[in-house]
Amino acid sequence: MNLVCTECGESCNDSSSAWRCRCGAPLDLDFHPIYDFGCFAGREPGIWRYREALPVEDPSAPVTLGEGGTPLIESKILGRRLLLKLEYISPTGSFKDRGASVLISRARELGIERVIEDSSGNAGASIATYCAAAGIACEILVPEGTSPGKTAQIEAAGAKLVRIPGGREATADAARKRADKVFYASHYWNPFFFHGTKTFAFELVEQLGGRPPEAIVFPLGHGSLLYGTYIGFSELKRLGVINTLPALIGAQAAACSPFHHLHRGEVTLDSFTAGDTIAEGIRVTKPARAGQILRAIKETGGLVVAVDEEEIIEALAALTSSGFFVEPTSAVPLAAVKKLDSAWESVAIPLTGGGLKAPEIVARLAKGITGNSNCG
Ligand SMILES: *Cc1c(COP(=O)(O)O)cnc(C)c1O
Ligand SMILES: [Zn+2]
Repeated sequence: MNLVCTECGESCNDSSSAWRCRCGAPLDLDFHPIYDFGCFAGREPGIWRYREALPVEDPSAPVTLGEGGTPLIESKILGRRLLLKLEYISPTGSFKDRGASVLISRARELGIERVIEDSSGNAGASIATYCAAAGIACEILVPEGTSPGKTAQIEAAGAKLVRIPGGREATADAARKRADKVFYASHYWNPFFFHGTKTFAFELVEQLGGRPPEAIVFPLGHGSLLYGTYIGFSELKRLGVINTLPALIGAQAAACSPFHHLHRGEVTLDSFTAGDTIAEGIRVTKPARAGQILRAIKETGGLVVAVDEEEIIEALAALTSSGFFVEPTSAVPLAAVKKLDSAWESVAIPLTGGGLKAPEIVARLAKGITGNSNCG
């Protein structure tokens, strides 16, 4: 399959194992499938019900563990009616399984025997698990201090786990150094991943009776779910299934919010420095696809919102005490919702990752707010 550069337009083949363009920019897939969306309706739930829309040569034998097909629940939380899509009910506990299934299916098709990936945890757990299912050897680099629930998943899947001191960017640098020798199964550089996450858009349209919500608020790190969703809705618009794209909104932790600063034209990525946040899944200071993701957000009439740590904790407590046991990162969009235009009637939020990956932290943070301590 053909890959094209997002900046200079040069193209190359995906069997060349190039993970970015010679000019340094990310590559997109030159893949514009034509399908009859209505025909998917009668099939088994899961991302492979959309197989004609997915970029593999032989979709009859994918690497699948039953990803996708997540519930959409309407709930009133913090005074606002929201559509919550329960992505944490996925084989490895996060939406990353949508992307991993497509990416690892393609890697197996290409005859790849070994991959490397860097991750704050969930992408690593997902890639490691799908590699286990595919019989592909796998090495995952994570920042020191990653939640034990995530590192346990990586090791249990039989992957080699490497802890890198010095934070998320140091981990990414270490992976890039190895990526010329080993297939880089990156959830933000490799465009096949985004064609897996685009199924999030397809499911929303099906679950809402053929129409997208008016707005969707994402926890925004590298943008693999936000941008995949953009690709999905753009395909549906090109095919005439929907008329307008929903506003795509990125929610970031104020302590680490490169997109928020870029959106307001304040900094370049080189000059951006970040503080710490409990939202470990979006502790990303140098998003690889910043340019194209900001363009997508603007095209849809979306925006980027930053929230502080107390607001994230308050939102987390509101979610867990409403029955949604999620990790702190997944509470960031709910914290952002109160800063949005209340004219939007249907606002959807992906609950991206489960609380079981770091149950003590979630309980401690949520208890501090709701006061449900056992000591009284
Ligand atoms: C990866 C992840 C995100 C952010 O996804 P990006 O692709 O980096 O924007 C959000 N929440 C959870 C739970 C994640 O694992
Ligand atoms: Zn280029």
